[in-house]
Amino acid sequence: MIILVINCGSSSVKYQLLDMKSDDVYDILAKGLVEKIGLPEGTIKHKPAGKEGFVRDLPIPDHKIGMKLVLDALVDPVYGVLKSFDDIEAVGHRIVQGADFFSGSALVDDDVLEKIGICCDFAPLHNPAHLLGIHAVSAVLPDVPQVVTFDTAFHQTMEPYAYMYALPYEYYEKYHVRRYGAHGTSHQYVSQRGAKLAGLDLEHSKIITCHIGNGSSVTAIKDGKCIDTSMGFTPLEGMIMGTRCGIIDANIVPYIMKKENLTPDQMTDIMNKKSGFLGLSGVSSDARDMDALAKQGDRKAKIVLKKLTFDIVKLVGGYIAEMNGVDLIIFTAGIGENNPHLRRRVCEQLAYMGVKIDTEVNEKARGAETILSTPDSTVKVALIPTDEELVIARDTMRIVSTIEE
Ligand code: ADP
Repeated sequence: MIILVINCGSSSVKYQLLDMKSDDVYDILAKGLVEKIGLPEGTIKHKPAGKEGFVRDLPIPDHKIGMKLVLDALVDPVYGVLKSFDDIEAVGHRIVQGADFFSGSALVDDDVLEKIGICCDFAPLHNPAHLLGIHAVSAVLPDVPQVVTFDTAFHQTMEPYAYMYALPYEYYEKYHVRRYGAHGTSHQYVSQRGAKLAGLDLEHSKIITCHIGNGSSVTAIKDGKCIDTSMGFTPLEGMIMGTRCGIIDANIVPYIMKKENLTPDQMTDIMNKKSGFLGLSGVSSDARDMDALAKQGDRKAKIVLKKLTFDIVKLVGGYIAEMNGVDLIIFTAGIGENNPHLRRRVCEQLAYMGVKIDTEVNEKARGAETILSTPDSTVKVALIPTDEELVIARDTMRIVSTIEE
């Protein structure tokens, strides 16, 4: 089944075209990125498998035109990989917020669209863009079934004591205020792959997944189900991230707003886009820049790197206690997959309980499935590259196959 996977941001469309033969047998036919939609000068970067791609700069006024560009690239006589649009059998979308409406992927219909719309209120940066993406696909491919996969769905198994905030209960009832988490597709995927690689029975296992990238979250997974996760009502909560502050004393928010005379939107922007590595270092949101600066002796970059380890260790330690043990700790995403120093620093803090990694293996491990722990380590440690697009494609195939039967 040929499936187009779409990840729509407010000004971007990331795409991947997969030929799914089965859950584990598939080819990636093309991938690409449309950026700066709505700005005077947009860009499309298209990379077909096995041949040269292209980068084109042109104005892309809206998502519908962006989507048309993607489809045109896929059927282009030189750079394309398909004969016609008709070859696309289904489209799968990544959706950031599904709240407690969705505990799994769903086929798009009016009811699903309405619920994603309700969730816009508490994912204002993401869900409206996802809806634009779905409508843009409907406009260009009206007869192709579309499936939505939610970042929050995997976390729906949390118990009320894990997802409730100790605020007046009416705010949960009236405004849906609770922990939803994010990156669920990634946590689910790497925990399943990791269990297989480590020879664990997922249904009887205690796993902690550390998705450490530009956005970062840590999840406790018991018997294959999420019991706790560090992101909260929105992806802001939890640990330090590229531009997000993670957990802070909530009283800081009104305090700074009053001092700096800021509106709620301005404060939201500061906490989400101007904090984290960027805010603390004053220089960059990228972990590689932090490493380079710290090597030159930059004090703030050193604080950022220490805090990154510190925050992960606090979460992992807490989750070990919540599960009364751990069998496997997994690192994934941009930093988790590519930064051996961070993995080593986190594991060193767990040496007291017998966690031991092979430092040579760890030093070399980058972006490929690897067991990092030594055979005598009490806990297995693994690097598992995440693949959210594959999960979306699998779910899309599964759901679309059932409607066709
Ligand atoms: P996003 O959350 O946007 O998907 P990623 O998972 O791609 O982000 O993570 C981005 C982070 O990963 C950046 O801080 C970057 O420095 C780091 N990173 C990505 N690739 C590498 C690499 N090859 N070596 C070291 N760090 C990397």
